[in-house]
Parts: sequence; structure tokens; C-alpha cells
Amino acid sequence: MKAPSVIVIGAGIGGIAAAAHLARHGVHVTIVEKNSRPGGRCDRFSRNGHHFDAGPTLLVMPLLYEAEFAALGASAREMLALQRVDPTYHLVFDDGSRLSLTSDPKSMRDQLEAIEPGSYQGLLRYVEEGHQHYDLAMDRLVNQDFRKASDFFTFRNLPLLYRLKPLIHHYNNMSAYFEEPRLKSAFTFQDVYMGLSPFEAPATFSMMPYTELAHGVWYPRGGMHRVVEALMDIANRAGVEFMFNAAVQQIEVNGTAARGVILADGHRLAAEAILANADLPYVYADLLPRDGLADRLAHKRFSCSVVSFFWGVDKPYEMLGPHTLFLADDYRENFKSIIQDLTLPKNPSLYVHAPARLDSSMSPAGEDTLIAIVPVGHLDEKGEQDWGEIRDLARQEVFRRLATLGITDLEAHLKFEVSYTPLSWHKRYNLLKGSTHGLCHNLTQLGYFRPHNRHPRYHNLYFAGASTHPGTGVPTALVSARLATQRLLDDLGLSK
Ligand SMILES: Cc1cc2nc3c(=O)[nH]c(=O)nc-3n(C[C@H](O)[C@H](O)[C@H](O)COP(=O)(O)OP(=O)(O)OC[C@H]3O[C@@H](n4cnc5c(N)ncnc54)[C@H](O)[C@@H]3O)c2cc1C
Repeated sequence: MKAPSVIVIGAGIGGIAAAAHLARHGVHVTIVEKNSRPGGRCDRFSRNGHHFDAGPTLLVMPLLYEAEFAALGASAREMLALQRVDPTYHLVFDDGSRLSLTSDPKSMRDQLEAIEPGSYQGLLRYVEEGHQHYDLAMDRLVNQDFRKASDFFTFRNLPLLYRLKPLIHHYNNMSAYFEEPRLKSAFTFQDVYMGLSPFEAPATFSMMPYTELAHGVWYPRGGMHRVVEALMDIANRAGVEFMFNAAVQQIEVNGTAARGVILADGHRLAAEAILANADLPYVYADLLPRDGLADRLAHKRFSCSVVSFFWGVDKPYEMLGPHTLFLADDYRENFKSIIQDLTLPKNPSLYVHAPARLDSSMSPAGEDTLIAIVPVGHLDEKGEQDWGEIRDLARQEVFRRLATLGITDLEAHLKFEVSYTPLSWHKRYNLLKGSTHGLCHNLTQLGYFRPHNRHPRYHNLYFAGASTHPGTGVPTALVSARLATQRLLDDLGLSK
């Protein structure tokens, strides 16, 4: 019997993983990718011996990687050559004080007690709550496929309204554990990964600092793009076909079915089912016939964007840890500028990554490779933001903050600079509004309320990736791929 065929649009994390699942079930899979290489946001580029992860730099939630690689018949630990990063982050505050987030209890106790007496007990209680939230969220939300409302609205899930604290804002919840604003920000900044401000994120997200402290932050040898290489290896072995430089211009539909895709060069490809990994709001807006659904999606909340700098530097800055985070005192104002005013905060919190501290091959000997990421608002509707000016201001802010660590000569030692603004994210990966994390994770865009892994009208069109269920991030894209393909295989009657 002829194998059923599926076209996957996009070779991001979710697309490659989904293709591998399907091919391992005997489906004939072709991935069409607009760019010349796989990875999507988890991209990598190199210049003069300096290697840069373009998007993700932190491997968090390692248990999800292990489970999802195992579901693909592989071992994440073996394929990714993981090393634990400890301390994970070096936090630097406006007054020059510092905090290294580490799994070493004695070091954490000493550092926290010096900032706020009694706060170590607060941390232990906070981590305990994060632990509960993590276990519950994984079991009842992340790993669940909400195919119909009754899968979500169950008596069993009712206590989640209390136990996951979804109706309490994360930052407000911090008062139960810490007085000191620096500590409140040290254990809530991770909400930005969800595209949210801690002042509006549900307290559920205490699960993120919990997993970082308890399960660790890791680094695959060669950087995060190694995850892409490992998935490519699995997909190639399973027989997935790849077409690069092949942008899909349209998904052909007929009634309630998707029939195939039309590429930018006019070629038509037909298949029994389509799985879109390109970001979901873009697929609705640009690849499908225009209808009310796309308009409704465009009005949903999108996450912020970032301005990124990739620097090749002619000397090493050994005093910089692998992940340094400068957290501004005007924390609330920072999020307001980014989320409401769609701009760069006056005194922005920002992040600097020095991969050569973890893997010396990321930079030529005696030199350094640095990445700075500055969160900013996403593209506005009117296109009135001056991204050249915003980028220049952001660069000066990075230099200013590094100077507080004694690094005053970086500008003079730059060999080259590559920078991305929200316009770059939009153009490279078709991210609507240049929003780096896609649809954000507020209450009305979570669980059953997040766009589902199958289109509500076209019964053979599926989605895997950041803006669909369960949400943004590399490990969740892997989960999304498994849930979407499980549904597709069920629909095709191919489930084992
Ligand atoms: C700056 C930044 C930092 C991040 N940091 C982290 C981190 O530290 N840890 C973490 O876990 N996550 C992080 N993330 C999030 C993570 O990168 C993403 O959630 C994840 O990579 C999304 O994968 P995806 O499956 O949604 O696919 P995407 O990466 O969105 O890939 C989709 C693919 O579809 C292709 N495509 C689009 N349109 C078409 C078309 N018309 N035809 C053909 N192909 C098309 C695109 O080119 C792309 O290759 C970060 C993201 C960014 C941008």
C-alpha cells in the first residue's frame, strides 16, 4: 500500500520533530523551508571563527528534552552532549549589587541573606510552590491535547484554579516570599520568555525559576543549534525529505480540506495532510484564504521582540559569565515600555551571553564571541518605530551596563557586528509583528484557549510550534510536534 504523504511547512524545531515522528510511523514526509538551512529561530551563523546562536541560548526544562527525544527513539543526553551551567545567571542590579543563581544551597543562602535577612526561607517556600506548579502544569496542561472543550473543562481540572494560582499576578504573589524588589525581579524575569510581564503573568509561572534551579540550565556542546542538528539526524534517518529555499505562498484548500501547497516559484505539491510549523498567526493571515479567524488571531496578544547584537571581539572578556543579566530597578516601567508603548525602555534590563565560557570552540583562541539581547516592543501597526535609532540606543545601553562591570573598551575591540531588530525577525522567519515568542501566554491564550494543533475548519491541517499549544520555547515546540502528529496519525488511522 502507498504510504500517506504529508507536507510540513517550515524546518523549525517543531517542524523537524513533527516530520521525524511522522516518518517513523511510515508516512512519506516532505519539509518545505523558505530559508537555506534548518532551525528557524533556533538558527546559527558563523563568521571568522566566531559562532553565534541567533535565537535561543538557554536549554531549560531538560526533562522535556529527555522525554521528547525518547519519544523519537533517541537520547537527548547522548545526542546533545549536555553540560550543566552553574551558576546559571549572573544577575547585576542597578546599584552594582550582584546575585549568582546557583544550585549550591550554601552559596544561595549566603547571597540571599546578605540582600534580605530571612529571604532564604522565602526562596525554599517559593521553590516548593514552583515545584507544585511545574508538576501540575506538565501533567494537566503542557502534555495534554485539548481536542474538545470537555477535555479541558473537567471536574478534575477545577482545583487548578486554586492550585496553579492562574488568577493571581506573579509579581504580586512574590510578596508572600520576599520584601526586597531585587529578589522579586530575580525570580520573575523568566516571564519574559512567555512574552509576559510579571505584573500580568499568572503566578503559575513560578514553575520556570523552579525548573531552572531544580533541573538546571544546560548547554549543548556547540550551542543550542545542536538541538537542530540532532533532530535533523533523526529526521534524515527516518527518511524525511527536505526542500530548502522553498517558500510556501499558499495552502490550497477545497471546502473543509487542505489539498497541498503552492510554492513561491509556482510549483504545486499535493498531500493527504499539511502540518504548518511556520508561525500560526502568519499561516492564518498569509497562507490561507482570508476569513474572520485570521482577523481574530491578529487581535490576540503577541509577545515582545528583541534587538540582538552579535559581536566578534579581538580579546577575551573572562570576567563575563556565560549568562549575565542586568536587571533594572524600574522593573515595572521596563515592562510597560515594552508591552504597552512598544519601544525600548529608558533604562532597559538586558542580557549578555558569552558562549566561549562554556565551549572554547565558539570563538577563535584569544578572542571572544558575545551576544547581547535587549527586549523591545514588537512592530506597531503603523510602522512608525525608527529601528535604526532604537538599535543604536540599545547598543549604547549594553556598553553602559557592561562598563559597570569594568568593561569599558568593548567598542574598541569589536571586529564586527551583526544586529537583528524586530524587522529582521519578521523577515527571516515570517513572525507576525516581529514577535520573537509568537502569541503570548496570558490566561486567555493558554491551555484550551491557545490555538489548537488542528485547524478548526480544515480537518487535515495541523500546527506545531511556538504560537500553538502548548506554547513557546524549544522544549515546548517538541511537545507541540508530538501532540500535533499524534492527532494527525489518529486521523489517518495510523496510530500504533
Ligand atoms: C531571541 C530569541 C531567544 C530565545 N531564547 C530561547 C531560549 O533561550 N530557550 C528556549 O527554549 N527558547 C528560546 N526562544 C524561543 C524558541 O527559539 C522558539 O520558541 C522555537 O525555536 C520555535 O520553534 P518553532 O517550532 O515554532 O519554529 P520556528 O523557529 O518559528 O520555525 C518555523 C520555520 O518556518 C519557516 N517558514 C516560515 N514561513 C514559511 C513559508 N511561507 N514557507 C516555508 N517555510 C516557512 C521559517 O523560515 C522557519 O524556519 C528564543 C527565541 C528568540 C527569537
